Amino acid sequence: MLDLAIIGGGPAGLTAGLYAVRGGANVCLYEEMFTGGQIVKTHRIDNYPGISDGPDGYALAARFEEHASAFGLKIEYGTVSDLVLTEDPKRFTFNGETVEAKTVILATGASPRTLGIPGEKELTGHGVSYCATCDGAFYKNRTATVIGGGDTAISDALYLAKLCKQVYVVHRRDALRACAILADAALKTENITFVWNSVPEAFLGEKKLSGVRLKNRVTGEVTDLETDGVFVAVGVEPRTDLLNGQVALADNGSILTDEHMQTNLKGVFAAGDVRNTPLRQVVTACADGAIAATYALEASRVN
Ligand code: NAP
Repeated sequence: MLDLAIIGGGPAGLTAGLYAVRGGANVCLYEEMFTGGQIVKTHRIDNYPGISDGPDGYALAARFEEHASAFGLKIEYGTVSDLVLTEDPKRFTFNGETVEAKTVILATGASPRTLGIPGEKELTGHGVSYCATCDGAFYKNRTATVIGGGDTAISDALYLAKLCKQVYVVHRRDALRACAILADAALKTENITFVWNSVPEAFLGEKKLSGVRLKNRVTGEVTDLETDGVFVAVGVEPRTDLLNGQVALADNGSILTDEHMQTNLKGVFAAGDVRNTPLRQVVTACADGAIAATYALEASRVN
């Protein structure tokens, strides 16, 4: 039986793994596809202390993984299902085998929120995207529109402005949520045009996106904006589908924890973007992972 099973291999899970192996635990990290989580979609990380050369998220994730692996962290790739957290030992099915663990850290992260407007489902992959780093190159010398006013939307707009002829940023208010350094840079970029106080009502086009229908929330005016691509960046939803109601969640669907990252269940911890946290950054995910691993190890020794 494992002392600790970590589910999810983003910054929170990999840091938890590093701390757990260094603490002498029998630990394994289970990841669905590839390590790094959401940062692999980030073109430049500028706010992780000590790394001022602005690596892309993929490169930083690779460094995290190499670091944890160098200390002996075992990482397995596949699907976790049938998670039972309310009994001891905790258990789940992984690639058809049962895994038992004294403690579990949930580090499953978050995925992009959708808008739920007409045309969104149909045109995803045909002009509608949730990842500028993955799909931006399709819009080289063309027109792209970003929906949202947070850090993701504005860093996406800055990235796209280097590739595209014209970038529109559609935001539902008249002030950006993004941090000042990103907001100032975007406001000064010539080929970024802001469409303030506006929300998308529909994505237009049959088999391929041709534009987005916008409603101005102040005047009520409805207009169609022609665009080759749309990048939706309106926040994230915690990934908790595995839990089947076993763990207490906040109203926003994220996992509630105490200051040791323990959930309402003894021996079950959560770390990173899946947790109810006031700040979703690489550095806070790593900090969560370190705390969760420290107290998971303590709990595994008591068990
Ligand atoms: P976010 O901070 O939650 O921002 C979401 C944006 O979308 C907000 O501007 C919000 O408008 C808008 N929005 C939300 N729902 C909407 C809807 N239904 N229709 C239209 N607009 C809508 O999300 P995020 O930018 O993805 O960032 C998530 C977390 O990751 C944050 O903690 C962020 O700091 C972090 N992050 C950090 C970096 C970085 O540090 N470089 C990069 C990316 C992400 P309002 O402003 O009106 O609420």
